[in-house]
Amino acid sequence: MKELIKIELKENKLILSWNDNTNSKVNLKKLRDECPCVNCKGESVIFDSYIPIKSPFKPAGFYEIKSIEPVGNYAIQIIWKDGHNTGIYSYDILKKISD
Ligand SMILES: [Zn+2]
Repeated sequence: MKELIKIELKENKLILSWNDNTNSKVNLKKLRDECPCVNCKGESVIFDSYIPIKSPFKPAGFYEIKSIEPVGNYAIQIIWKDGHNTGIYSYDILKKISD
């Protein structure tokens, strides 16, 4: 079974070490843009439908991680510096968005 044994934050990347001796590198911008929570997914749908140009303005700390909490042994919860904390990233999602 896949387990996450180590998480490191390096510059603008999250480096995940798995128990099968592989690593996944995930860009923080991509990590936030792919936030799987209902709020983010819902908002992106609304923006795409009703606002022609997505605002390039993001609040301070939008792409910066404050802390990371394990969720069972299948996911991690990421708390961002702008206060957003509802994104639960399953190992599958992390694998999918890694470089
Ligand atoms: Zn979110």
